[in-house]
Amino acid sequence: MHDLAAVTALVDRLTSGAVPAERVAEIRIKAGPVFDPEALEQAYEMLARETPLEGSCLVIEPSFARCEACGVSSPVGPEDLAGHVLLCPACGAPSPVEHGAGIELVAIDLRPGPSALPC
Ligand SMILES: [Zn+2]
Repeated sequence: MHDLAAVTALVDRLTSGAVPAERVAEIRIKAGPVFDPEALEQAYEMLARETPLEGSCLVIEPSFARCEACGVSSPVGPEDLAGHVLLCPACGAPSPVEHGAGIELVAIDLRPGPSALPC
């Protein structure tokens, strides 16, 4: 359920008046490896419905983790987690999860005008 809670907080923030929500075309976020991108997208679509954000897209950038054992930076997701420990996809070494607990707003793309454009 952390996916839904994180997206709820994001939608609340976006519809609180900080940005012209009705002109938002695309939201770009970075999500920690504990999040399932598909669940985030579904939650966003559901929560944005009937708000000024309806019709905008959520774009999720994969999170990367650099392994201290082998030095390889790899994109990581829920499948690389064992409990709260991230296992390096390259060598299997465990490392603590960093930035794994939240989603981070990277960018908001606004439409130039009020007319709706398809994603
Ligand atoms: Zn490694």
